Amino acid sequence: MDIQKIRSEFPILERRLYNRPLIYLDNTATSQTPDSVVKAIVDSYTTTKANVHRGVHTLSQEATELQENARRRVKEWINAASTSEVIFTRGTTEALNLVASSFGGMMLGEGDELILTVMEHHANIVPWQLLRDRIGFTIRVVPVTEDGQLDMDVYRGLFNDRTRLVSVCHASNVLGTVNPVKEMIAYAHSHDVPVVVDGAQAAPHLHIDVRDLDADFYAFSAHKMYGPTGVGVLYGKEKWLEKMPPYQGGGEMIESVSFEKTTFAELPYKFEAGTPDFIGISALSKAIDFMDALGVENIAAHEHELLEYTTRRMTEEIPGMRIFGNAPGKCAIISFLVGNIHHYDMGMLLDKLGIAVRTGHHCAQPLMHALGVEGVVRASFAAYNTLEECEAFIAALKRVTAILEG
Ligand code: PLP
Repeated sequence: MDIQKIRSEFPILERRLYNRPLIYLDNTATSQTPDSVVKAIVDSYTTTKANVHRGVHTLSQEATELQENARRRVKEWINAASTSEVIFTRGTTEALNLVASSFGGMMLGEGDELILTVMEHHANIVPWQLLRDRIGFTIRVVPVTEDGQLDMDVYRGLFNDRTRLVSVCHASNVLGTVNPVKEMIAYAHSHDVPVVVDGAQAAPHLHIDVRDLDADFYAFSAHKMYGPTGVGVLYGKEKWLEKMPPYQGGGEMIESVSFEKTTFAELPYKFEAGTPDFIGISALSKAIDFMDALGVENIAAHEHELLEYTTRRMTEEIPGMRIFGNAPGKCAIISFLVGNIHHYDMGMLLDKLGIAVRTGHHCAQPLMHALGVEGVVRASFAAYNTLEECEAFIAALKRVTAILEG
């Protein structure tokens, strides 16, 4: 990959902070957006803004066409069987709330069991707890091993005749671990248990094939994969979506409404109440074009090179370095602490050197608890990061460590 050419598509990377070049290593939280995606948004606002699915007029038809083209693009990209299975949401969080509320509400009863893992983001914990508090089922949790992999023996051992559902992240936003979701799904299916996959951290780095995985649901966010904010996708198998009640009510999701009875629109519109972010949705297809043009495998290979190089140098050259998550084949995410230095102090000083990293609990407090820490510093890489940036990051880490330990 020609990294300099890629970088030229991201004007934000030319910014300087505190008189230094910006080094953006907070890609797990959100990645930056290339010109092609921004241009698609500007083009829509300047040439085709009209509400979708409502008008017979030309602009409305063009806007609808752009949105539905994006749906077809997503369908191909994740290898869904049909566009009926591609629901646009505001992001992974809304997608998981939709599944928990609608599918969970249908599948889980009092005394039943749901399996989650300790490495879940709060977005894949709290919606289930809200439902649990209404219904009264039990949440079982798969722990992680020393190097940050799911304990698969425990996972298999958790299944019993009350197990109704599994929800698991494809990749951890803290440990970087890529979970064996295909194997987990096959095992769950052998017990007739459907599986929800939180793909927020996998979609930017892995080729997603929902049919090969045989996932029942798969959720991800556009903003983490070079796309716009405010847009996400929920893939769901048609056989489930057909049976599920709507999540939200309003315009667009109905077939007919009277005060006596309302009937609902066909899939996927049954789950898309209100005016969607049709401009963001159409721009998502440009983000997919961007990733496709580079090749997801090439992006991942480049990120791995940065990951391995940086991990090795950090471990060898910075005394007291603790890296959380060392699973083989992990995503390009390094969560770490140095000695007794507080993650927040580290992040603040790195920022003053122009380096954007994340600090805190990363919306994964149960995992922090299991790791015995309150928070960590996290550096994460994307297609546009360079080895020179990694060098600068390591040099900055040494400097900051010396200051904070001094
Ligand atoms: N799941 C995981 C694993 C994540 O990393 C995130 C965001 O960091 C989310 C879910 C929530 O994504 P969003 O805030 O885009 O809805």
